[in-house]
Amino acid sequence: MAPMEENVVVSNLELEKLFSMKGGKGEASYANNSQAQAIHAKSMIHFLRETLDKVKLGGGGGGDGDKAFVVADLGCSCGSNTINVVNVIINHIIKRYEALGCNPPEFSAYFSDLPSNDFNTLFQLLPPLANGISMEECLAADNQRSYFVAGVPGSFYRRLFPARSVDVFHSAFCLHWLSKIPESVLDKKSNAYNKGKVFIHGANESTANAYKRQFKTDLASFLSARSVEMKREGSMFLVCLGRTSVDPTEQGGAGVLFGTHFQDAWDDLVQEGLISSTKRDNFNIPVYAPSMQDFKEVVEANGSFVINKLEVFKGGSPLVLNKPDDANEVGRALANSCRTVCGVLVDAHIGDNLSEELFLRVERRATNRAKELLEKLQCFHIVASLSFSQ
Ligand code: SAH
Repeated sequence: MAPMEENVVVSNLELEKLFSMKGGKGEASYANNSQAQAIHAKSMIHFLRETLDKVKLGGGGGGDGDKAFVVADLGCSCGSNTINVVNVIINHIIKRYEALGCNPPEFSAYFSDLPSNDFNTLFQLLPPLANGISMEECLAADNQRSYFVAGVPGSFYRRLFPARSVDVFHSAFCLHWLSKIPESVLDKKSNAYNKGKVFIHGANESTANAYKRQFKTDLASFLSARSVEMKREGSMFLVCLGRTSVDPTEQGGAGVLFGTHFQDAWDDLVQEGLISSTKRDNFNIPVYAPSMQDFKEVVEANGSFVINKLEVFKGGSPLVLNKPDDANEVGRALANSCRTVCGVLVDAHIGDNLSEELFLRVERRATNRAKELLEKLQCFHIVASLSFSQ
């Protein structure tokens, strides 16, 4: 195959406009490759409920003066996980109102993600709004929803909502996505230039530190925006990929996902003459799995929030397999997982045909090392519950 790498060029500035999980309902779509996130979210549900218990409830009672209770899921993507979590949140709040002997207010849920997210697929997954039935009847019926919905396109690193308008912010498996690749990482003259690599796992220290600084800047922007938007009595629950090591070049599960077979497949394309080494070096995965310390430092420097809970939680494997002994299934699952989350970026960098070639090599390599891969591929998550200092 002739080299064809120069046909597509994506500037770093466009990351936000272009980035999304793979939409639709196909084999590599997020809707079909997010069961692991669903399982991991379920295992952390007790933390979420604790956060929801921190929210101070308004009067309720169903009177005219009642305002809607507002839930916002940031980085909702286009699968059913976001719908399930919004359900859990609203049902928990309804139960709290009932325990107080009050009628719950009406509920609004905002599903927010970058503009290129496949909101159409998400909206089609929503159950219909329950009209003309009681809250009890609605809760008993799985296929109805008890809340109003809107989609909010935009980056969560900036303002998305009016001031003091949101009761509960939720964001799962998102904040490890950086807003951009730091300039120095793409600058051939810089020490931080990520030569030979497409991720920071096993990269040099300067590259990893540039990513760390970007993560901290981004999280600080996220917290500033939310500190304006969240109601004073509200609460926020955040989960993102994390790591247990203090060393940022040791990226844990994210490191195995992007720094092993995926990395080797890029090297294959270079060795086979399909792309130049510069083309590979200019591709970088905009992910940083923070340590608990990284996360804590940003929340403390921001100063608006108290930390009710901050933990590194073992999430398990990002692959959901029917037959873990079947190496072909393991290889396919790893390639699909990678493709779901970064396929859009790869397509934009090298075009659809070479992207296809790349993921074929990821699959082949992962199939050949399936057993070892399953042993090593374990994700840790940072779980944070924040509210305003009273
Ligand atoms: N919360 C969902 C999806 C997680 S996938 C779940 O639990 O299954 C991560 C999502 O974060 C993607 O949909 C991606 O588009 C979104 N994302 C990444 N960076 C973002 C940003 N700066 N602003 C808003 N969404 C972002």
